[in-house]
Parts: sequence; structure tokens; C-alpha cells
Amino acid sequence: MTSAPLTAQPTGTPAPAFGTVLAPTMATVSAVDGVYGDLELVPLAPIAMHPAAHALHYGSACFEGLKAHRGADGKVRLFRVAQHAARMVDSADRLCLPVPDVQLVTDAIVRTTAANLDLTPDAPGALYLRPVLLGTLENIGAAAAPSDDALLYVLASPVGDYFTGGDAGLRLWVETDLPRTTPQFGRIKTGANYAMALGLTRRVKASHGVDQVLFAPDGEVQETGAANVLLLSERKVVTRALDDSFLHGVTRDSVLTIARDLGMEVEERDVSVDELYAWCRDGGEVALSGTAAVLTGVGALVTGDGEVPVTDGRSGPVAARLRDALQAIQRGEAADPHGWTREVTAADL
Ligand SMILES: *Cc1c(COP(=O)(O)O)cnc(C)c1O
Repeated sequence: MTSAPLTAQPTGTPAPAFGTVLAPTMATVSAVDGVYGDLELVPLAPIAMHPAAHALHYGSACFEGLKAHRGADGKVRLFRVAQHAARMVDSADRLCLPVPDVQLVTDAIVRTTAANLDLTPDAPGALYLRPVLLGTLENIGAAAAPSDDALLYVLASPVGDYFTGGDAGLRLWVETDLPRTTPQFGRIKTGANYAMALGLTRRVKASHGVDQVLFAPDGEVQETGAANVLLLSERKVVTRALDDSFLHGVTRDSVLTIARDLGMEVEERDVSVDELYAWCRDGGEVALSGTAAVLTGVGALVTGDGEVPVTDGRSGPVAARLRDALQAIQRGEAADPHGWTREVTAADL
């Protein structure tokens, strides 16, 4: 057992490890027989769940992760909340859970943010929002039946930088045998995918000192356990095209859009590990994109046959340029031509 999460501290205190501190108010809403009721704001506390609840037995659970950023102007802005809500709706649909409206999920996120507004740290910290949707049908005989009952709640957590390694590039194990997940689950943000990757991740962390696993079954690059993968050069971004094998990251889409806005070429297509290694030998950068990771450079690709260094082992200049452009929009320091940010105030309670 680990200790209970700490209570959030006011802005200005040093940020603790990602996700270990939770804000005191959460939004909840339940669905009964497929129909969602009213959204409520309640104090953070253990949730009552029947031991026969569907999610606990048959894996009908999904989540989201997004951030609210405090700008230099003091305003708090959620980043692409509607896109995250839409992805949760899609996950619910794929898991045969009662499907909430995008508006309901958005409202739950916005109101949780508003209720914990004062706990949004200054940049580079942020308020991380974690919507969770669980099947709550009480029936252990429902192995082959969906849950018509559900609980949606949204946690908030003040966070600092996800990666505390500074400029050091990440070390990735390149896994060419095991897939990250199945085609049925590739696009669902669901805990089962993470549990599936744990054993392998723990093994190669211990044996090869890597940070994460890059899944490339049959030599085709998919993604890491929790982030998408981008190949970067001065003029070009290359990444796998959207399909059912991987999670369609909002950060991935944002970085590709910014790259196009900056006049870079964007190629969405298959990438083999052989091309990836050649890209690195030619001096190209590799970066991971995700809400938590933002855009973090890779320093080495590790395989059973040895290591392929990436740039000089540190997060590279193209990743830094794209990350800066993204964060400037998130923090309200640059124009927001695509309407990605949504300011949240106490009036949204
Ligand atoms: C959450 C997640 C990502 C990143 O998605 P963002 O929307 O950019 O945060 C990528 N891959 C997996 C497997 C994820 O769970």
C-alpha cells in the first residue's frame, strides 16, 4: 500500500511528483439504465462502488488526461477540452458503456477546473484533469453483456513537469515482438492497455535502464506506452497515420497542426524501425508527444543488439521549437488561431 494522496498546497510551493496530489473538489455524474443524471461537485473522497461492479470484473473503464494552464496574465485556460471530451465519448462507445454527450463531459471538466481554480500552478506547472468513466452495473454474470450503469467523475491534480530529467533525452526500448495492445483497444484510453505493458516495461527498465517502451510489432513503429512518436527534422515531421493500432493523441494533432502552420512538411504514414534507425543515423530527432510529456526528445533507442544514439543524447532543437510554440498557445502568450483554449473562471462553477 502506498500512502493516501496528499492534500493540494497553494500556488507557489514546489510541485510534487506527477499525480500524487489531488485537488479537494471533483465532479461526478451517474448513468442509470443508460441515462445520465445531473452533474454534481462533491468533496474528493472514496467512491462507493458495489463489489460486483462491471468495471472491477470485466474492464469497462476508460479515462482522459488534459491540462489547464495558468498564463502570465493570471488567466486559466483548458487546452482542447472538447477534443478530450469527444475522445472519452468515443472510448465509452467502444467499451459499450452508456455514451455521455460531449457537452456533459466538457461541463464536468470545466466545473472541476473552476472549483479548483486557485490550485492551478504557474507554468511550467499546470492543473491536470483526469476524467474517469466506469461501468457500475452490479452483476458478475454480465461477462458478455455491457454495463448500462456508469459513473463519470473528474479529478484535478496540480502538477509540475512530468519528466524531471531536464534536457536529457529519454531512453526507449524498441519492442519488435509484443504489441502494446489489440486493434479493438488501440484507440481506447483504458487502464487495461497500461496493465498489459507493465511486465515488459519493468523487465527492460531493470535489464537495460530504459525509461519507456516503444512498441513496433513486426518492425512497424506504433507508439510508446503513453505517448505518440514523432520523427523531426528542420523541415519535416513524420509520424504514423491514424489507424486502430494506437491512441490518437490531442498533442500529436496539435504539434502536426503547428508544424504545418510553421511551413514544415508533415508526413502521416507507416514508419519501420529500419527507417527510424536510419533517421537517427542521419542526425534526425525523435520525440514523444502527450499531454503529460508535452513534446520530449528521445536520446537513445535500445534494442537487444545494442543502442542507436539519437542526436547528441539530449532533447533536440526542433522539439524545443515546436514545444515552445505549443506552450505559448496553451499559456495565452501567442495567438490561438484554431480556437484550442477555453478560459475558465469562477463564473463557470
Ligand atoms: C494519453 C495517451 C497518449 C497521448 O494523448 P494526448 O491526447 O496527446 O495526451 C498517447 N498514447 C497513449 C497510449 C495514451 O494513453
